Amino acid sequence: MRRITVLGATGSIGESTLDVVKRHPGRYAVHALTAHRQVDKLAALCREFRPAHAVVGTAEAAGELEALLKAAGVKTEIGYGEAALEAVAVDPAADSVMAAIVGAAGLRPTLAAARAGKRVLLANKEALVMSGRIFMDAVREHGATLLPIDSEHNAIFQCLPPEDPRYRAGVAKIVLTASGGPFRTRDPATLHDISPDEACAHPNWVMGRKISVDSATMMNKGLEVIEAHWLFAAPADRIEVLIHPQSIVHSMVAYADGSVLAQLGNPDMRTPIAYGLAYPERTHAGVSPLDLARAGALTFETPDLERFPCLGLAFDALRAGGVAPAILNAANEVAVEAFLQGRVRFTDIARIVAGVLEQASEGSADTLDGVLAADRDARRRAGALLDSAASC
Ligand code: NDP
Ligand code: MG
Repeated sequence: MRRITVLGATGSIGESTLDVVKRHPGRYAVHALTAHRQVDKLAALCREFRPAHAVVGTAEAAGELEALLKAAGVKTEIGYGEAALEAVAVDPAADSVMAAIVGAAGLRPTLAAARAGKRVLLANKEALVMSGRIFMDAVREHGATLLPIDSEHNAIFQCLPPEDPRYRAGVAKIVLTASGGPFRTRDPATLHDISPDEACAHPNWVMGRKISVDSATMMNKGLEVIEAHWLFAAPADRIEVLIHPQSIVHSMVAYADGSVLAQLGNPDMRTPIAYGLAYPERTHAGVSPLDLARAGALTFETPDLERFPCLGLAFDALRAGGVAPAILNAANEVAVEAFLQGRVRFTDIARIVAGVLEQASEGSADTLDGVLAADRDARRRAGALLDSAASC
C-alpha cells in the first residue's frame, strides 16, 4: 500500500490524482492533503479520504477547516503555512508526494520532498524551472525517485532508454508537442483584446487558470523546454517544439538511427498521473481508450515565434542560464496574475517578461537563497512594469 501526500489537492491536478487514487482503494492511501484558500473543498476531500494531516495557507483558514471537520467528526490534524507544508512533504509516514501546487509557492515543499528521498510526482514545473540544478542534485543526493507528471515529460520519460550514458548517447532530439492553445489561428491584430475567460478556454485540456493562460501565450511550452532540459539533461539545441493541435501525441524522442518514439493517448492528465503513481507498473486510470480511426488526422506545424514571443523568451532564458529562468518564471507569474485580474492586456504578458529579462540581473542559481532573491527582485521589477503597462 502506497501512502500519498497531495500538495495542491484542491487544484486540477489534485482532483485528477484523487480520482485515480479512488479507483484503487487497496493500493493507495491518502496521508496528507493541502490547499491554500479553498477550505470548503478541502473539508469535503478530508471527509472523503480521511487523511492524517491537512494544511491550508493561513491560521484563519485553518480555524475554518477545524470547525468544518469537527462538525463532521473527522479527526484530521490541521496545520497552516509554509512550515506545515514542508512538514507533510517530508513526513516519514508517506512514501509518495504529488507536487501539484501552482507556481513558485510549490518550490520549498517540493524540494523538501526530494531531500527526504520521496517518490516525487512532479507536476509543479515552476520548481524545476526556478532551481533545476539544486532540485536535480537533491534528487540524486537523497535517492529520491523523480517521476514527471507534466504530460509531455511523462511521454518523454516513457520513450527514453534507461539512464545509462551508453544508451542515452543515441538520443538525437527531444520533441515537445504543444497544442498551440486557443489563439493558434486567431488574427494577431486582435490578441490585445482577449479576456481572461477566453484565454482560459483551452481547446483540449481542462486546467487551472494560471497554466491555461500560459498555454495561450505558449509560455507553458517555454517553461516545459526548461523543465525538459533539467529532467533529461538535454541542451537547448536538442529540444524542439512542434505544434500538434489534436493533443494526441504527447511528445517524442528522436534517435540517431532515424527512429522516433512517441507516446500517444487521449488528452487526460489521469494517464500520466496513474503512470507516476503505479510506476513501474501500469494500472487503470479511468481514461477512455484511444481510438485513432475516430481521432482523425494528426497534424504538426512549427510554432510562430512572432505570434508566441514567450516561447522565444524561455529559450533565451535557458541559454542565458543562471537565474534567468527563475526571473522569467517570476515575471510571468506576476504578469499572468495581473492579466487574470483585468489589470493588463494579454499582449502585455510577453512585454513585461521581456522587459524584466532585459534588465540584467546578477545572482547565483547554486543556492536556494540566490534563486529566491532573484525571484523577489524580478517580481518587484515586473510590478513596476505592470504599473506602466496599466497606465498606457
Ligand atoms: P490549480 O490552480 O488548479 O491548483 C493549484 C493548487 O495549488 C490548489 O490546490 C491551490 O489551493 C494550491 N495553491 C495555490 N497557491 C498556493 C500557495 N501560495 N501555497 C500553497 N498552495 C497553493 O493548478 P493546476 O492543478 O492546474 O496546476 C498545478 C501545477 O501542475 C502547476 O504547476 C501546473 O503548471 C502543473 N501542471 C498542470 C497541468 C494541468 O493539466 N492542470 C498539466 C501539467 C502541469 P487552493 O485551491 O486552495 O487555492
Ligand atoms: Mg504540459
